[in-house]
This record gives sequence, C-alpha cells and structure tokens, in this order.
Amino acid sequence: MTDQLTRAGATGTAPPAEAPPCLELRDVDASYGTTTVLRGVSLKVAPGSVTALIGPNGAGKTTSLRVASGLMRPTGGQVLVDGQDVTRSSPARRARGGLCHIPEGRGVYRNLTVRENLLMQAGSSSPKDAIEIAASVFPRLGERLAQKAGTLSGGEQQMLALSAAYVADPALVLVDEPSLGLAPIIVDLVFDFLQTLREKNVALLLVDQYALRTLAIADHAYVLRRGEIAYDGDAAGLLRGNMFEKYIGEAAA
Ligand code: ATP
Repeated sequence: MTDQLTRAGATGTAPPAEAPPCLELRDVDASYGTTTVLRGVSLKVAPGSVTALIGPNGAGKTTSLRVASGLMRPTGGQVLVDGQDVTRSSPARRARGGLCHIPEGRGVYRNLTVRENLLMQAGSSSPKDAIEIAASVFPRLGERLAQKAGTLSGGEQQMLALSAAYVADPALVLVDEPSLGLAPIIVDLVFDFLQTLREKNVALLLVDQYALRTLAIADHAYVLRRGEIAYDGDAAGLLRGNMFEKYIGEAAA
C-alpha cells in the first residue's frame, strides 16, 4: 500500500483502479446435510474473460455454480459480484444484476412453447427483441416458436437454454455441462456459441466434460478435486508438459 501511495504521489496521478472480478467465491464451504462438498473454495472470474472449472465427477463443480448464482447458500465464506457481497442475495436479485446461470440438464420449461420460454428469459429485453435475437443466433429455434420445449430434441433444448445467455444480455454466464448428451455436431455448435459469447466480452464460468475444448477457449482454469481447488492458473498452463495428465487425466480429454 505504501509503495502504491508513493508511486501515485511521485507522478501526481492515482494508479488506475483495477475492475473487481465480476464473480468471486471467497473461501466458500458448502454442504448437503451433514456432507461437506466444498472446502475453502476460492475462485475469481475477471470481466469479459472465460474461466474453466474442471474436475472429476462429484468434485463439486455444479455445487460451486449453484453457490455462485444463489441457488444454494454456502455454510462458510462469501460470494461477491462486481466486488459487492451478494452471499445473502436471492438468485433473482443476482440475475437482475447481470448473472445468468444455465444449469446442467437444460433448465427449460418443458410445458411452455419456445416463444414462451424466450419471453421468460427476456429480462430487460423487449419480447420482440428476445425472439428476434434467439432466432438469429439459433435459426432452428426461430422455426419452432410454437412448439412445446419438452418436444424439442436434446440439441434444440440446449440451444433454447443457451439463448438466455444472449437474450437476457448478462455480463456473466455460468454454464454447467452444455455438451452433455449431445451429438458431436451439436457439441461443435455449442462451442461455437460459447466462442461468440467470448467475442461479445461476456464473462463465462464454464464447466464441461470436454476438458481440452473447454481449456482451448478459456483464459484461466481451476481444477476442483474432492471439494478443494487443486489448480489455479492459466488455462494454457494446464496444457503444457504433463500438467493435463497430472491434474485431469487422459479420460477427460
Ligand atoms: P458431476 O461432474 O458428476 O456433475 P460435480 O463436480 O458437478 O459432479 P456436484 O454435483 O457439485 O459435483 O456434487 C458434489 C458432491 O455433492 C457429490 O458427492 C454429490 O453426490 C453430492 N451432491 C450433489 N447434490 C446433492 C444433493 N442434492 N444432495 C446430497 N448430495 C449431493
């Protein structure tokens, strides 16, 4: 701090204030009943960056996203959005603040039509904009506006779930296993979509089974193991030398 003050004084200008992370989990613990599943998890997502959260089944990735979006209250630690403590804020309040959570298993309303689902996602966008935006990003949705979401294919349901990341115009999107159960050609489409979000400067916290593809679009990566952070560093760093085998293992490639 003294150094900073001295430097600022010497030049006569204050150092530029660094933007706070758009999301931070600070020393978070979380449990289901008496079973603790997150232990002292700390992670940050910088504005406009892509952060990968990788780890074996049951490591606590989904739980971390649920704590971040407010679907689950941590038993210890804090959640900060844009530097503000939101640990006790509701999921709806966090959503209004620009956070969008696309949960594992799509999270679409199966008994509502595609059009009605898009209107639910719209947030501050007008209904007309919501539908036009989604149809331009995923033309297949535009052709199926009157169809019940539950009757869409798995890939189309995932497109509908992902369209929230555009329609609601969020600053930060938490995406949980978007490629799970999809045909390879649809997985390509999902990763193309995530790449376009990245180009729009939307921050992403991404959990996906395809660790290599996830790391390829990520700036920063965390590896979770049994509820604890085992790696915190450059996404590219996990691809060097034997780091991938050490932290993730060939099975996840
Ligand atoms: P996966 O890749 O298999 O989805 P994950 O890393 O996302 O795993 P979580 O779903 O966060 O892991 O689960 C972490 C641990 O918490 C697991 O041991 C899981 O069995 C347990 N768990 C998850 N949800 C519940 C629940 N509702 N009740 C009790 N235990 C749960």
